[in-house]
Amino acid sequence: MQFDLHMHMILDGVDFRKAIGTHRERPCEALIRSRLEQYRARGVTFLRDGGDAWGVSLRARELAEEYAIDYRTPVFPIYKKGHYGSFIGRGFATLDDYRRLLDVLHEKNADFVKLMISGLIDFSKANTLTEDGLSPDEICQLVELAHGEGFAVMLHTNGDWAANAAMDAKGESLEHGAFFRQETLLRIAKTRTLWVPTLSTIGNLIGCGRYPDEVLQALLCKQQEKVAFVAQNGGLIGLGTDAGAYCVPHGEAISHERHYLSSIPDSILQTATDFVRCTFSSRPNLQKSGDAL
Ligand SMILES: [Zn+2]
Repeated sequence: MQFDLHMHMILDGVDFRKAIGTHRERPCEALIRSRLEQYRARGVTFLRDGGDAWGVSLRARELAEEYAIDYRTPVFPIYKKGHYGSFIGRGFATLDDYRRLLDVLHEKNADFVKLMISGLIDFSKANTLTEDGLSPDEICQLVELAHGEGFAVMLHTNGDWAANAAMDAKGESLEHGAFFRQETLLRIAKTRTLWVPTLSTIGNLIGCGRYPDEVLQALLCKQQEKVAFVAQNGGLIGLGTDAGAYCVPHGEAISHERHYLSSIPDSILQTATDFVRCTFSSRPNLQKSGDAL
């Protein structure tokens, strides 16, 4: 099985500013093609991008067919102004702004909505996120509006409250997932909400010297235990690397992530991918019933 349920074509795993700069005028087709070729050479047939504000993932989707890759994109991720996401997404201040962004996604044939609802892990301290994130009510409202427009929703979700708000609103996938508590893990399992833990974003930093290795190692272990717990309780875990994030190389990271997810049987990862294939598209020819899953 070769797929990645969470990657960023626009990023290069090294320097996000430089990487985005390469595409700022227009998407650099040669670079996109060379990445698609790398994926094809590894036998990858399915990719779900997290989107970007410069049209790179959109161009990648247009080209991907030539490489026999089924490519899904939210076009751009959506964040609330003043919160995490401005480096890669498009922001809204009011719900009317948000509705206008959803209209743009329809125009561009987005496959789904990607929402940023919380910050990042602060690796310099234990158990800390970089910001408080959106309120539960707001998260529910945003997901419900996206559902009302026929979109499935991929949620950048760190923090226990964010996961619960995302599940209250029946969001389709939780990405990353730091600091989930035991009851929340059980809820993820019982509701079979897809969790894509992107462990490469933690594990691949070990030894890079940017953050204390003990903190990274402890966090990786904890996340691996939580992921295993969800799977043991019947939950759905997806293989997504966050390729393009710092120290997460395109293509290669799929085997890194598989290694970090070594307690998860292939069958669960495959079911998760089938679910994404069925659910994360608003294009009618791709949308099929996910009822069987
Ligand atoms: Zn990402």
